[in-house]
Amino acid sequence: MGTGYVAPALRLLPDPTPESLPFWTGGERGELLICRCRSCGHWFHPPAPACFRCRSTEVGPEPASGRGSVAAFTINRQPWIPGFAPPYVVAMIEITDEPGVRVVSNVVDVPVEDVHVGMEVAVFFEQHEDVWVPLFRPVTP
Ligand SMILES: [Zn+2]
Repeated sequence: MGTGYVAPALRLLPDPTPESLPFWTGGERGELLICRCRSCGHWFHPPAPACFRCRSTEVGPEPASGRGSVAAFTINRQPWIPGFAPPYVVAMIEITDEPGVRVVSNVVDVPVEDVHVGMEVAVFFEQHEDVWVPLFRPVTP
């Protein structure tokens, strides 16, 4: 029931840091890589050199499930980005792996009017040069 989503010719690309690089490149292997603490087991995002809960530095990217739900969103109707036509949805996606861990992304392949809080979504990746941008679309039951 998609909208025949077509990737924009031009997308504002991130400028990955050493810490965020796995997040932006995990898509090459189809993996949503989210930082996880190996001491207490909690996930967190954005990536950081230490766990904010237990202060352990035994942290690193691990493949998350790639599933999540829309925690909050806004519909952008302004043509801020050349080549990226409005309207489009900018959303906070809460990953299924851990409540409260949220990723900012776009929800695509669905009419913007149909996006709602709690909507179940799954990740897919859109490659632009050396970056695999994690995007989300509704899970069709
Ligand atoms: Zn920890």
